[in-house]
This record gives sequence, structure tokens and C-alpha cells, in this order.
Amino acid sequence: MKKNFHQRAAVKLKFLGAARTVTGSSHLLTTPKSRILIDAGIFYGHRSEFYEVNTTFAYQPQRIDALVLSHAHIDHCGNIPTLIKRGLRCKIYATSATRDLCKLMLADSGKVQEEDFKYLRKITFRGRGRRRQEPPKIGGPLYTQNDGIRSISRFRPLHYGQRFKITNDVTLTFLDAGHILGSSVVVLDVRLPRKNLRLGYAVDLGRENLPMLNDPTVLRDLDYLMIEATYGGRLHAPIGEAKEKLREAINRTVARKGKIIIPSFALERTQEVIYFISELLREGAIPPIPIYVDSPLATKITEVFRNNIHYMDSEAKDMIRKGSSPFDFLNLHYTKTQDESKALNNDKRPMIILAGSGMCEAGRVLHHLKNNITESRNTVLIVGYMAKDTLGKKIVDKERIVRIYGIEYELNAEVVVINALSGHADKDDLMRYVVASAPAKQVFLVHGDEDQTRSLYDTLLGLGLNPYMPEKNEEVLLYEE
Ligand SMILES: [Zn+2]
Repeated sequence: MKKNFHQRAAVKLKFLGAARTVTGSSHLLTTPKSRILIDAGIFYGHRSEFYEVNTTFAYQPQRIDALVLSHAHIDHCGNIPTLIKRGLRCKIYATSATRDLCKLMLADSGKVQEEDFKYLRKITFRGRGRRRQEPPKIGGPLYTQNDGIRSISRFRPLHYGQRFKITNDVTLTFLDAGHILGSSVVVLDVRLPRKNLRLGYAVDLGRENLPMLNDPTVLRDLDYLMIEATYGGRLHAPIGEAKEKLREAINRTVARKGKIIIPSFALERTQEVIYFISELLREGAIPPIPIYVDSPLATKITEVFRNNIHYMDSEAKDMIRKGSSPFDFLNLHYTKTQDESKALNNDKRPMIILAGSGMCEAGRVLHHLKNNITESRNTVLIVGYMAKDTLGKKIVDKERIVRIYGIEYELNAEVVVINALSGHADKDDLMRYVVASAPAKQVFLVHGDEDQTRSLYDTLLGLGLNPYMPEKNEEVLLYEE
């Protein structure tokens, strides 16, 4: 039976993650001659299911022939070291910028897991001593910092536009997704006995006019398109609004002689904010106050940006060619040691501090918040998404009292929320993208919560397109002959 199925030259696509949800992106394309994994992201959920979900695979890792990686966000690449530990032997295809960023992101992900595991073991041990309770089932770290670094040797970098035969019957092409540095939309051409089949993958998809990035490339002549639905039912404010709000917040705070604390994701968002600040300074729109990037990871990632100018848009390239680097200018400092970071508390001048973690759950931003949020002259500037139940979300909601390291603090600082910086296409962008790429057969909607996915589904259906919302672990037959 199985033999017949293969003789009939079937092409199948299985949605392994990020179906009706936004994390754990991973999909399996099976052709008559190969098995190709598209992305291998970490799934984030309750701690109790984190280990289980991220170590349960619907395929044998050693039988995968190629891994195609869209970009360096952990929900797309974060499970690569786990797969390698469990037998994945194939090459990993990505752009060189994605590879360089993955090296830092995967090392950091391993380090955070190691620390988290150590901490959990410690509190479990203490708890058992006192109450003899069952230790929680926490599995272990999926991988270590070293595993993360080592996995980079599997990467095989490709240029945008380079057609590359990755298996006997599949050719891969990356094009610019305009989502983060080095991010790709993907074309997979499957050669079959009687015809060719073309699958497009636009997950994650960026948007027009993001600082430094080229606009997303439209994929054409597709049979099928997989596209994200993160903001399938929402519209973003225009990017220009972010720069204007940033200017206003900085000027208002400097007039009060306060500090501006910006909790920021180390990858892309930090560099975007620095980019806007550098523009505002050159335009004379803000006073020349000191700016501190207080995140070792963001500092290392900024170095990758410096070395990958060729991935940026012409505006950024022009700026750099004229000698004004957006990552190195007067008054911009990258703190190195913890002591340097702590010394910022004693410096009473108005200043801008960018620090991680992005959602204020850990990292150096916590001590800056603790030291600054009780005073009304200061500002907490929110530039990224804050998930439910995080300290960042509590600040966005302007809760009067917030807890940091177990101690209660009054939130008196001004809170400014800039939503316009999202790196994801919104409802209109997604709709336009699908119309422009016009896949002949079907559009698969992934990487979106249920309501956002359904909203995009309804929109596309109304336009006479042919959308489909797969379930997790569902497999569809794309072609048979
Ligand atoms: Zn992403």
C-alpha cells in the first residue's frame, strides 16, 4: 500500500506547529524523493508542557533530508539544537545573516534554559525539604549554550535569489521577507515526473517601510502559499508614527530632567530604536543626551548588523556610506560589565537606557525599572509586544503597584506605548500580499491565534481566494500523479 502511494508521486505537507497559534513554527514537506523540514521553532506554553511538546516529533529527525530556515527568531529556529541532539544530520539552509544571528540567539536560548533549570531544581529541592511535595515534572534544558553554538556548523548559507538544489527533487530559493535582518520568504520547487509544483512560505512576513529593511518580496507563480496570520484581523499604525512618538516622549522626559527606560528585544527592535534615535539626533529633533544599550546580547547582535549592511535597504546603506553609522554615534554607549550597568543608577542626568528582557521578565531592565518607575519625571517607553501576565503587560496596563524581585513599587513614571513598530504584516498587508502572489491552488494560514486566523480566512474567502486553516499535525495532500 505504502509502495503504491509513493509510486503515485505524492507531495504532502504536514503542519507540525504554529497552527492556530503563534509559536513553534515547523512544517514537513514530503515529496517522492525527500523530506524537508521548514523551520524548527520552539513552542512556548505552560512550563509543564514545554519540554514534552518540544521533544515530541511526528517524524524521525535522522530521516530529514534538509532543513529550510526562514529567520533567526527563536519561535522559528529555537528547536534546531534539540533536533540535532535527537539525530538530525542534514544541512540547514538559511541566509548568512540568519546564521550569524542564530549563533547568538541559540547560545542565549541554551544559556537561559540552563539557568532556568538550575533555578527550578533549587526551589524544588528546597520545597521537598520542607513539605515533601512531588517535584514538578520539568524535564530539563532542551539543550545547553554549547549545543546552541555547535549547531551552527550544520548551516549552509545561501544568497537571496540563489536557486539551490537541496535534494534530488527540490530546489530552494530565498527572497527578502523584510521582517528582521536576513529574514526570508521561501520558494520550494518540487520536480515531479509530469509537472513541477511550487510552494511559497511567507512566515514571518514583514511590512513596508520598516527601518533598515527592504520591503517584503512578493512570491509569484505559486501553486500553494503558506502565510502567517499573526495580525490577520488587525491594522498597525504607520511606521512614521513610531518615530514621532519617540521624539515627543524623549523631549517631554528631558524637559522634566528624567530618564527614559526602554525594555527592548535584543534582536531587531533594539537596533530599530537606535536607528530612529540616530535620525532624530541628526535632524536636531532631540537634545544630545547619553544613550545606553545595556544588554550584552543586544550589543553582540548589533555587531552582526554592522557586518551585514548589504542586507539593508538603500536608505540605511546611503546613511552608512556617508559616514553616519546608525549603530555608532556620539553619546551612544554599549555597557559591558554589570558594574557599568549599575553605575547608571547614580548618574542623575537625563538619558535613554535600552535593556532586556523585552517583556521585563528578567535581565538588566529589571533593576532600571526598580530604580526609576517610582518617579514621575521618568518614562517607561514600551516598543514591543507584551504577553499576558508579564511585568511588561502590567506596565502597559498602568497598574498602580507592580512587583519587581518580589518587592512592590508604585508606578509613577509616565508610560508611553508605541505599537507602530511591529515587524509583522497587518491585515491589509497580508491581504495585498496574497492577492499579488495569487497562488493557483490554495493559501494555508498558519502562525496566528484562532481569532486572527479566522479573520484573515474570512477576508480571503470574501475575495474569492481559497484559504485553509490547518490544525496542528494535520497533513494535506498537495499533489498526486
Ligand atoms: Zn519572526
